[in-house]
Amino acid sequence: MTKTASQQEPLKNPLLDLDGPELGGEQSRLSVNRLRLEEQAAGQEEVRRLHRAERPVIGVLAIQGDFAAHAEALAEAGADPVEVRKPDQLAGLDGLILPGGESTTVLRFLDRLHFFDVLKDFCACKPVFGTCAGAILLAREVLSPPQRSLGLLDAVVERNAYGRQIDSTIITAETSLSGGPLEMVFIRAPRIAETGTGVEVLARRDRYPVLVQQRNLMAATFHPELSSDRRVHQLFVQLVTRWRTELPGG
Ligand code: GLN
Repeated sequence: MTKTASQQEPLKNPLLDLDGPELGGEQSRLSVNRLRLEEQAAGQEEVRRLHRAERPVIGVLAIQGDFAAHAEALAEAGADPVEVRKPDQLAGLDGLILPGGESTTVLRFLDRLHFFDVLKDFCACKPVFGTCAGAILLAREVLSPPQRSLGLLDAVVERNAYGRQIDSTIITAETSLSGGPLEMVFIRAPRIAETGTGVEVLARRDRYPVLVQQRNLMAATFHPELSSDRRVHQLFVQLVTRWRTELPGG
């Protein structure tokens, strides 16, 4: 009788709710299961943390334009993407993508956020990939009409240079990337009219460069994030990884 009564008694000391030998049956099993799940979750988080540490962390300027597609492409290409909206978010990043959009609008936001100079400093020493409007921002000189830029990529870029009728088009062409022809999506694309000697041309449309690299900088006048082919993002992730491991002296 006494035994039956004590089994039915509710727990008096809540501390005994964890692992106490006094705990019986169902309650005890639930506590142990919970601890196991917590241990498992902690382990998984640790694995994720290590995994993250191995993958380069690459920001995507998320002020305007198609930053979400770039973040997805980066994740598929082996990096951990981070959306960047404020200057202090650049700290600790291994690289950055300046996405397509409207370069005049991006410039206005950069000014409003006191972001221009901090961004310029970052682009001067870390791997940065500018696509379309991002390429315009990186260029040494911008034409039609002339516009302020970060001035780091030794190239002259003409905005909206392909004319109204074909301002958006998709072509497939050979590049210096291995793996065959590359699909390139052009949307109100600029044209790289001139490049300096330090600029390597990786792809052309007609005779004009459309994908270039200069030391830590890459630029494309098309939108690689809008194709399913991830070779261009992979190339950038490789550049970022090399830059991170080889710690170039500047
Ligand atoms: N035409 C835009 C500009 O001048 C660029 C277009 C784009 O990024 N797709 O900024």
